[in-house]
Amino acid sequence: MAVTFPDLPYAQDALAPAISAETLSYHHGKHHKAYVTKTNDAIKGTDLENKSLVEIVRAAKAKGDQGLFNNSAQSWNHTFLWNSYSPNGGGEPTGKLKELVDSAFGSLDDFKSKFKEKATGNFASGWTWLCLSGNSVEILNTDDADTPLVHDGKKALLTLDVWEHAYYLDKQNDRGAYVDDFLNKLINWDFAAQNLDKDEENLV
Ligand code: MN
Repeated sequence: MAVTFPDLPYAQDALAPAISAETLSYHHGKHHKAYVTKTNDAIKGTDLENKSLVEIVRAAKAKGDQGLFNNSAQSWNHTFLWNSYSPNGGGEPTGKLKELVDSAFGSLDDFKSKFKEKATGNFASGWTWLCLSGNSVEILNTDDADTPLVHDGKKALLTLDVWEHAYYLDKQNDRGAYVDDFLNKLINWDFAAQNLDKDEENLV
C-alpha cells in the first residue's frame, strides 16, 4: 500500500486570484508530488511499506530518520493544507469552534491578528497551525516539515504553509498579503470544525 498522492479537492484555478493556478500547479503538482514519491521510494521493501502515512511519519521521527520524516511529514502536511484552503473560505467559525476561538483569542479579529503575527514572524520555512490543545485552541509555528502529528497533545485543526513556494509566484516576498488572503478569503472553518471531533489518525 503506497502513500497516495491526492487530487486537489477543487479545480486548480479555484483559489485565484488569491492563489493562482500556476502556484498550485507547482505546489501541488511538483512539490507535493515529489514528497510523496520520495516517501514511497524510501519505504519500499521495508516494514513501513504497508503502514498508514501517519504511522510512517511517527516511525520516522522515533527512529531519527530525518530524510523519511521530512518527506512523509510534508506529504501529510500538504494534503492537510489543501483542505485548509477553500474556494468558499473566509467568513466565520460557528458553533463550538467559534466558542473556542473567542475563548482563546477574544474575537475573530483578535484571532486573525495573532495568526498573522505568528505566520509572518515564522522565521523558518515552515507552517503555522491552529491546534486543539486540551480544551482550548492555540496557534503553533513549526519549522521545515515539523507537524503536530509528532507533538503530543496537539491536534491540527487548520494550517497555513509559509514556505516561499506557497506564495512567491503570486505575492513575491509579501508573506503578509498571502496571510491576509488566507484569513479573509480562503480559510476553511468547516474543515477545522470537523477536525474537532476526529481522531488524529483520520484528519485527512
Ligand atoms: Mn508547501
